[in-house]
Amino acid sequence: MKLPFLLLPLGLALTLPADAQKKTSSLPEFQIKKSETEAHIRFLAGDELMGRRTGEQGNFVAARYIAEQFRKLGVVPVPGNAETGTSSYFQRVPFEKMGANGAGEIAADAEIMKSGTDWILMAGDAVDLKAPLVYASFGLENAAKSWDDYKGLDVKGKIVLVESGTPETQTPSEIIATSTEKRKIAQDKGAIAVIELFNAPIPWNTVSKFFAGEKISLAEGSAAKSIPHAWVNGKEAKFARALRAVKEVTFKTSGRVAKPVYSYNVAGYIPGTDAKLKEEYILLSAHYDHVGVGKQGGQTYTPEDSIFNGARDNAFGVTALLTAAEALAKNPPKRSIVIVALTGEEVGLLGSKYYASHPIMPLNKCIFNMNSDGAGYNDTTIVSVMGLDRTGARAEIETACKAFGLGVYADPSPEQGLFDRSDNVSFAKEGVPAPTFTPGFKEFNGDIMKNYHQVTDHPETVDFNYLLKFSQAYTYATRLIADRKTAPQWSAGDKYEPAAKKLYGK
Ligand SMILES: [Zn+2]
Repeated sequence: MKLPFLLLPLGLALTLPADAQKKTSSLPEFQIKKSETEAHIRFLAGDELMGRRTGEQGNFVAARYIAEQFRKLGVVPVPGNAETGTSSYFQRVPFEKMGANGAGEIAADAEIMKSGTDWILMAGDAVDLKAPLVYASFGLENAAKSWDDYKGLDVKGKIVLVESGTPETQTPSEIIATSTEKRKIAQDKGAIAVIELFNAPIPWNTVSKFFAGEKISLAEGSAAKSIPHAWVNGKEAKFARALRAVKEVTFKTSGRVAKPVYSYNVAGYIPGTDAKLKEEYILLSAHYDHVGVGKQGGQTYTPEDSIFNGARDNAFGVTALLTAAEALAKNPPKRSIVIVALTGEEVGLLGSKYYASHPIMPLNKCIFNMNSDGAGYNDTTIVSVMGLDRTGARAEIETACKAFGLGVYADPSPEQGLFDRSDNVSFAKEGVPAPTFTPGFKEFNGDIMKNYHQVTDHPETVDFNYLLKFSQAYTYATRLIADRKTAPQWSAGDKYEPAAKKLYGK
């Protein structure tokens, strides 16, 4: 009597979990081979790709590789991607590349100011001017704030002298934000050049080092020619004094030529299996660009090794993305998946910024962004997740990592503000819960810095066992989130929660 009675539930207890386990481990992400992930990172971070700098040949080759992997894996172009035709994986991103600061000289009476040391040209072609100088205070017009700095001034055919920032603030970000506006206002009023006295409380050396090099920005709006615009070191009292005193200056510069360049975000789509939930999607992202070669890298290099390979940053994350592409295309989850390999991250998160303002599928149907990016790792027993406790999917991420023997560490090095330093922030700002899944570290120490943006970030030094597990965990976490009944939500009170309310209308 007892025996059969006992056997039945015991038998069930034994077979059910075993079946469930069998089912889980038969998912495609559990079958990925180490050689597949190793091949991706070795290709993307190979010397031949020359550091994948945005808009350069190695960058295009990486984009092509990713697109053709999508094709091979059965990931289709996002429906309605009309940017470059009906069936393209590419989203063309327009950039403007401005050359480095050149030679030049501004003279106010006996005071001679040299380009590069005393001032930098922010925009404009070569000129050799001698013209009247008109002081226009902050050079701003804002009726709401009663700023009317051009009142009673005629600046037509003249050079305008302005202070940096606003009457209210001299923070670097405010100076940068208002500087272009000042140039536009002056240009609209017929001025032929702008001299701005730069007065932020930061060392001039830092400013000139940062702004004097080649700069890439998004080319949005009109590409109208700009008048020359100089930032003069305003904290050098003699310069400020001389410029404020004179009625005429000479302004000579070899110019900074801006030319249009472009690159691509590479986007693919996997339709979901649930009749209703497939209308929603999860956005997977990882940037594939890096910093380039030699001087472009901004760090030490040698003639023997001058290529910034960017294996960890971020061929590693792209490998996770391609692993997800393979496994999720083979066995799709309930919700749809949009996969975007992003360009332009290293030049200011520009590829994601562009994508967020030109999404190929409506962002209010995007319930979650799982970004992968990394500086490096020093702990291969964990995955670190920026925003783990803010974005509502801790349980799924933990389950997925555990399935591959990995722990999860939330928000390493909080002092670095890492959540807001990768592409996830472009989507978070729109309201999409968007963590960054990053190779394991708890603090940003020397082990990380050894490779971070260095020529030593080679694929040969990557732990391929860890790369495989990381990529599998990323994929499985995505699947678990895509199969959830309800969409993950920002933690109550999060700074991006208001944006989410606006995006999703609830
Ligand atoms: Zn990166």
